[in-house]
Amino acid sequence: MADNHHKLIIIGSGPAGFTAALYAGRANLAPIIFEGMQPGGQLTITTEVENYPGFEQGIMGPELMDVMRKQAHRFGAKSIYKEITGIDFSKRPFKLKTYEGEEYSADAVIISTGASAQLLKLDSESKYMGYGVSACATCDGFFFKNLKVLVVGGGDTAMEEANFLTKFASEVIVIHRRDEFRASKIMTERAKKNEKIKFMTNKIVKEVLGKEESGRKVMTGVILEDTKTGKTEEVLADGLFIAIGHKPNTDLFKGILDMDETGYLKVNNGSTYTNVPGVFAAGDVSDKTYRQAITAAGTGCMAAIDAERWLAEQE
Ligand code: NAP
Repeated sequence: MADNHHKLIIIGSGPAGFTAALYAGRANLAPIIFEGMQPGGQLTITTEVENYPGFEQGIMGPELMDVMRKQAHRFGAKSIYKEITGIDFSKRPFKLKTYEGEEYSADAVIISTGASAQLLKLDSESKYMGYGVSACATCDGFFFKNLKVLVVGGGDTAMEEANFLTKFASEVIVIHRRDEFRASKIMTERAKKNEKIKFMTNKIVKEVLGKEESGRKVMTGVILEDTKTGKTEEVLADGLFIAIGHKPNTDLFKGILDMDETGYLKVNNGSTYTNVPGVFAAGDVSDKTYRQAITAAGTGCMAAIDAERWLAEQE
């Protein structure tokens, strides 16, 4: 048991988790990072990242995460490639249990389990993810200059992403499964007024189409099905942005940590403190607004500083 006790355990290994680990490592806290089901987090399923400061020519998402991990390890952080599936935050030290049943304990915990973009769950969607299919217009819109792109969804995110994409794309088509939009009136009107945006309603994406070009996968279009008539049609497009919502990875903390109505962890204003003293939250798991790698890294840094100061106060 003693070997499994650590001053600080970090759950989740995206930019928030690794930045927290880097700062905590440099503060001699010897943090442990549970990397979870998707080591490196959401950026490992993107291709090029051009908006992370410090990389003038951009960097591939998986490589960025690998460098962040190595930088944290250099200062004493250790990764455990397992998932935490049980927690007890009712008393200190906090207890954490892996999927395999191993128990760990910690004086402080940083939660950086991120959020997952909801996807259509099509095999062809995963096949072309990063090769035309994206779940983030802010991240990937730039790659679609003068190209035709599709946006799936009928909420505020879909409208916002469609508008944003018109800065680059020559044509944007919003595909929605109903003919009424969940998005706010103002966002819907703004999209409707935009000459580059068209709408196809009562349609669902049945399949993403693509081909191999010079050894690289390229998306070429989609097959849509009309929800009223069942008729299918092929629509040519260079990109497909899935904007059907995000889900924070917080199931484990339900009933234990304060969350908003959509499951994002609540933190005290301007800090990373959750409602349980000694448990901190950083990155997308507590941020439904910005959801960027750099903002996640920023709050990861804050969480490590908050944890370090809180631990010092306890001694
Ligand atoms: P959302 O409001 O939950 O909308 C998701 C949309 O995706 C809905 O139109 C839904 O269709 C559709 N959808 C869900 N699953 C689908 C599937 N499997 N296949 C096809 N379509 C599917 O999510 P969101 O747009 O990400 O917004 C989340 C929250 O953030 C909202 O509260 C929103 O107001 C807020 N937000 C605000 C702003 C802003 O104010 N600037 C910007 C972005 C987001 P149905 O309508 O048929 O269910």
